[in-house]
Amino acid sequence: MRVWSLASGSSGNAYLLEADGCQVLVECGLPLPTLEAALGALGSSPGRLSAALVTHDHGDHLRGARPLADAYSVPIYASAGTLAHPSLEGCARLRELRVGEARRIGELEVRPFRVPHDGAEPLAFRIEAQGASVAIVTDLGYVPESLLPCLQDLDLLILEANHDPEMLWAGPYHPRLKRRIAGDLGHLSNTAAGQTVAACGDRAPRQLWLAHLSTVNNSPARAVEQVSAVLRARGLGWLKPRALPRAGKPFGWASRPAAQQLPLF
Ligand SMILES: [Zn+2]
Ligand SMILES: [Zn+2]
Repeated sequence: MRVWSLASGSSGNAYLLEADGCQVLVECGLPLPTLEAALGALGSSPGRLSAALVTHDHGDHLRGARPLADAYSVPIYASAGTLAHPSLEGCARLRELRVGEARRIGELEVRPFRVPHDGAEPLAFRIEAQGASVAIVTDLGYVPESLLPCLQDLDLLILEANHDPEMLWAGPYHPRLKRRIAGDLGHLSNTAAGQTVAACGDRAPRQLWLAHLSTVNNSPARAVEQVSAVLRARGLGWLKPRALPRAGKPFGWASRPAAQQLPLF
């Protein structure tokens, strides 16, 4: 299995997963021309996608879904709450994901999990293929204990490290927005991300990408530093987190060296 981050953050999210030629997009937060360009840079195109999965109904995850479904007939998989979003009304390519039900899409097996966030019915995904496992867990105020088993024994965990609480509270946002971000239905802080991984103990992921970083209340260096500090303190100093760029060159990972169909950056 291979994974690329095409975009990560409040201005748009998109990941490409590929296993045995089956390509699936996770998150549709990019405008269609931007997505076309990002996939084109990898030698792919939206027409090659078997499916697009969307975690929740916020624009930075959903805004490109309808154009993608209309222009390329790509099925959109999401919770019933997300599929009820007005932008998807009348779309014929919608497929409902239910918590507790794994879905097979080509080579990929997708397990959706509910997360606490202020969307209609937000999900996170654990995806397995070819003996490898990846989870994409962003946009959540905290990590419920019930979610921890989904995060164990992963090859790659893409986990939100949205903000440094000190920067958030000292920063320029309106107090109401600060409370929303820091609240139980908001976004995960750097330290909370580190504690989540540490809670997996010796079943921690082999690779860790930090996602959905705030540009105002965080920085890639700070996210890596704060998560690493928690990991070191809990005996997981071998795990070196990497902060995902918001956009630009795709950021890639492969579960094992394979015959390359797409360039891996
Ligand atoms: Zn988001
Ligand atoms: Zn959100």
